[in-house]
Amino acid sequence: ESLINRIAAGEIIHRPASALKELLENCLDAGATSIRVTVKDGGLKLLQIQDNGCGIRRADLPILAERFTTSKLSTFSDLTRITTYGFRGEALASMSHVAHLSVVTKTKTETCAWKAHYLDGVLVAPKPGQTVEPKPCAGNDGTTIIIEDLFYNTPTRLSALRSPSEEYARILDVITKYAVHNPKVAFAGSPLPDLSTSSSSETSHAIRLLYGHSIAKDLLHSTFSSKKQDEAMEEESEVDDRESWKAEAHFTNANYQSKKMIFLLFINHRLVESSRMKRALEAVYSGVLPKGASPFIYLSLQINPRDVDVNVHPTKKEVHFLNEDGITDQISDTLQQALASQSH
Ligand code: ADP
Ligand code: MG
Repeated sequence: ESLINRIAAGEIIHRPASALKELLENCLDAGATSIRVTVKDGGLKLLQIQDNGCGIRRADLPILAERFTTSKLSTFSDLTRITTYGFRGEALASMSHVAHLSVVTKTKTETCAWKAHYLDGVLVAPKPGQTVEPKPCAGNDGTTIIIEDLFYNTPTRLSALRSPSEEYARILDVITKYAVHNPKVAFAGSPLPDLSTSSSSETSHAIRLLYGHSIAKDLLHSTFSSKKQDEAMEEESEVDDRESWKAEAHFTNANYQSKKMIFLLFINHRLVESSRMKRALEAVYSGVLPKGASPFIYLSLQINPRDVDVNVHPTKKEVHFLNEDGITDQISDTLQQALASQSH
């Protein structure tokens, strides 16, 4: 049974960066405004993430790493309107099957922090022979999740990974993207330039800081929305929000040429992949950029949570959503126009 659990866990946690993505989303779900990441050996030795969010109640700690333990889903019907990142309660459970998982957490109302260790889905004693229960300790409000020796018990998974430096680069990529998308959140830690002291909370400023000043002078900005929503705003009336959507994009003009396309796509504040949308936007640029040159595009799309199908893949990465073609076309058109008018 534990082998099956390990295999299942590997479907969700592919590599250190996918663990980190889940942990980051949990911090943001918890309302954190400050997040600190610590990484050792590309996340394989240590992946630690500290936030100042709402914390986890002492009473919830014993079952924290059991599958389907989630505070984000109260009834089944909630599944159709998921607004937070998480909803399956599988991330921490999975990590406990392929790593040593420890949690230090404190809610505002608790007088001290609590530390707990997990293995294979259950709370365990800190050391053999000690009692199996969370231990009181000193700590700030918020949560620190500590993942040690990731994939220690799945040698095939471990050997499929690249070098620690490659894994580190992927971790950095995920943090950087979330930092761009959450300019008001202070991200700090060894892998990043310290953004916690940055005074500006604007997306374009975050892009400049994280992707380099050279991008900034070539950056265009557009907002989009479905026609329905425009009309609703004008009339100040309620419409059926089923087909309404809005988006915001920061994208480079024809002067900027990257070797590789940099595409950040957030749907309802979740970092996702859509190869269909990526291809469509790439095609827009192929008309204005020389061969071999690629753009930078940050796109944040908000659609009705009911219209997003996050169940297509357990990693919840590649998404599909209602009216995908229509939305993609409208965004492509706007980008095309913006690029065309800029080049005259
Ligand atoms: P999900 O996010 O799908 O609910 P997870 O396995 O990622 O499942 O997390 C399980 C639960 O642990 C969450 O629902 C939440 O209650 C709690 N939790 C995890 N990380 C944090 C955090 N950083 N701050 C507060 N609560 C957390
Ligand atoms: Mg989660």
